[in-house]
Amino acid sequence: MRTEFGASAPGKVNLHLGVGEARQDGYHDLVTVFQAVGRREAVRLLVDPALEMVGEGSVVREMSTFFEVAEPAEEINTPSNLAWRAVDAVVAEYRRQYPGPAAQFPRLRIVVEKTVFVAGGMAGGSADAAAALVAANEYVGHFGRAPLDGDVLLRLARGLGADVPFCLMGGTALGTGRGDDLVEMIARGEYHWVFVNPRVGLPTGEAFSLLDDLRHDNPALVPRLDTAALSRALLSGDPEAVAAALHNDLEPAAVRMRPQLRRLLEAAGEMGLRAVVSGSGPTVAVLCRDGGQAEGALAGLRERFPGCEAFATTGPGPGAQPH
Ligand code: ATP
Repeated sequence: MRTEFGASAPGKVNLHLGVGEARQDGYHDLVTVFQAVGRREAVRLLVDPALEMVGEGSVVREMSTFFEVAEPAEEINTPSNLAWRAVDAVVAEYRRQYPGPAAQFPRLRIVVEKTVFVAGGMAGGSADAAAALVAANEYVGHFGRAPLDGDVLLRLARGLGADVPFCLMGGTALGTGRGDDLVEMIARGEYHWVFVNPRVGLPTGEAFSLLDDLRHDNPALVPRLDTAALSRALLSGDPEAVAAALHNDLEPAAVRMRPQLRRLLEAAGEMGLRAVVSGSGPTVAVLCRDGGQAEGALAGLRERFPGCEAFATTGPGPGAQPH
């Protein structure tokens, strides 16, 4: 009997983030291009040694998180953690699909290893959810009759959050709607990134509503929903062309909320090909020409902004995978 089920999933950067109108459901219509990067979150589901059996309800007994990046100020080892919710969602769906004599699942402890910034605009929590979905699917496949189908996992991913389907899928993809209607994009080449986080929170919802306000006062801030130039650049595989096509509609809002981002963006842009805010921020993503330039930019940013956290990685990378 297996006692451990593990999976990993990538953080992401938005190569393009076009923000359209606010919708009835509170989300904004997006046209975004995601790229999965090499920094991955790892989730392990450990069968409790006491093997206490439960008939229904959550199989998760507790969770712990190990941080390679700064911890958040808040307590996150709770049932509202996306990894915990993902495991619950898989087990609930399994029980819905196979009613009758209840499958007996042993209780679990979740262990999450975080290497992606928390609340940084890189979908770290969503990657935890995607990895937990894949690990939980191995678990129900082992203790139950069969794992859930891939399209069912994708549906559960959508229910957990707008970025979770992309973390499941990986690669480079165009996202529309809430960002979760995904189409794979052809992208040649490998891209060298440095990510730098000023360790100040930036709540996603507030960045979106500030953008609505800024647009009200400044008609020049129109939604940029055209990704044709970026698509061509990705086809060419030329990092300089991709750098020139990077765009984030949310950047003015993020910079207004966290003015220190302006200096960081300027300095980072000089050390690499181009720097943009990643997603809703506050992480700044620096696209570099090659690994050597990325190494130099990482060292330079660490020296000039000692209060920030930074790492270098590459993209695109694969989606959630068991290990
Ligand atoms: P996005 O790019 O999708 O906006 P993010 O990287 O900015 O995501 P997350 O790292 O997902 O943000 O965390 C945002 C908040 O989500 C945290 O402050 C915390 O309250 C909550 N949260 C839920 N599950 C997790 C998790 N597994 N890890 C970290 N935070 C989580």
